[in-house]
Amino acid sequence: MALAFLYTCACGKRFKVYIPRLKLFAAMTGTTVNWGAEDERDQEGGSIAELERLARVNDCLFVDGRVCEEMACPACRQKLCFLSHFRSILAGSEGPRSESGKGGI
Ligand SMILES: [Zn+2]
Repeated sequence: MALAFLYTCACGKRFKVYIPRLKLFAAMTGTTVNWGAEDERDQEGGSIAELERLARVNDCLFVDGRVCEEMACPACRQKLCFLSHFRSILAGSEGPRSESGKGGI
């Protein structure tokens, strides 16, 4: 299953952000793991499309981290830096929060 993170803006707008493993982990693990192949498998298996569908169901704005690492919140215009935010979470004590995609957050 592809990795997706929930991001809630200060204004309350919710985002579901798909981040390719390659972008998230390569900085930590170097090239010892072929994350790109994992990401391709997610794409081919349709799990990214599934994430997008679930985001809509859960009233979240789906963000594709492959093409969009940061954006301005459409509601309040605050700049959101998804990739650096999630990297800092991973680097901290909280650990990654992946989702099985079975509803909810
Ligand atoms: Zn906002």
